[in-house]
Amino acid sequence: MLDTTIAGSLPKPAWLAEPEKLWAAWRLGGEELERAKERAARFWLEAQERAGIDVLTDGEQFRVHFVHGFLESLEGIDWQKKTRMGIRNDRYFVDVPTVTAKVARTRSVHTSEVKFTRAQTSRKLKFTLPGPMTICDTIADGFYGRRADLAMAFADVLNEEARELEALGVDTIQLDEPAFNVFLSDVKEWGIEALHRATAGLKCTTAVHICYGYGIDANIQWKKTLGSEWRQYEEIFPALNQSRIDQVSLEAANSRVPPALMRLLKDKQLMVGVIDVATQEVESAEQVQARIEAALEHVDAARLLPCTNCGLAPLPQAVAVGKLEALGMGAALARQRLGIR
Ligand code: ZN
Repeated sequence: MLDTTIAGSLPKPAWLAEPEKLWAAWRLGGEELERAKERAARFWLEAQERAGIDVLTDGEQFRVHFVHGFLESLEGIDWQKKTRMGIRNDRYFVDVPTVTAKVARTRSVHTSEVKFTRAQTSRKLKFTLPGPMTICDTIADGFYGRRADLAMAFADVLNEEARELEALGVDTIQLDEPAFNVFLSDVKEWGIEALHRATAGLKCTTAVHICYGYGIDANIQWKKTLGSEWRQYEEIFPALNQSRIDQVSLEAANSRVPPALMRLLKDKQLMVGVIDVATQEVESAEQVQARIEAALEHVDAARLLPCTNCGLAPLPQAVAVGKLEALGMGAALARQRLGIR
């Protein structure tokens, strides 16, 4: 009970990529780069184990970008044809690649890194993939015409990948859907259906991560416009509670999400964010314990997984290590108080 986990990403060590920068380019190449990514993943797996985290990730050390890391090996995408696009409903403008033909997966994308990671730890392993709606919001469509159709095409290739990763011993496949908090009616119209397609046939635990984004300035400014209560989850949680996805994440640490919204997911396991990713201040174990206990007013301990609000990638390494430790210790204190484990 109260198994701890993280949203997914962790900082890249300074010898691998420029620190405290999202999507920084690799410092190395070729075989040297592959070994360096493994070293970085091993560092973070050990750090999570030491911190007492129960469900581990590779910290996304093998990819530069959480969406493009998957897309890079697919067919049907023209990386030279850049389209200027406002993403997350115009929260940022970026030059994105363009889908110019039917998307297809011609080879495994993450197999070798998952084999490596699986061999490093006997704890539960979670692997994160970008969700279909978030992919559609991070790439231009010059072929399918309807966003829902594009999403289903990506869902099918994600499903091929997810089945392979499950067979390698991944315990949880998580789809990252920050776009779910932005396109609320699309979630109900086709977003959840796309998740079902991406996870069809999986026997492992399935999860969806829905957040208010990394702790970067564009997101911090956006949050200021959302008013005194953030009620986006209220629109989508009832539909997610009806879905076949096992776990749903939500931001709770220093957020304006009304905690009672957790009650809308009464049939799901909840990854509750008890670690803020938008501040470099490291939480105390007692602070984390208090946040877990506040969540326990709305969700029973058997369904609660203390988690981070979002990825820790943009933070300094020492801060991220501190936050992992706070998460592990805070959960231990909460279990002690409940007399479990
Ligand atoms: Zn996130």
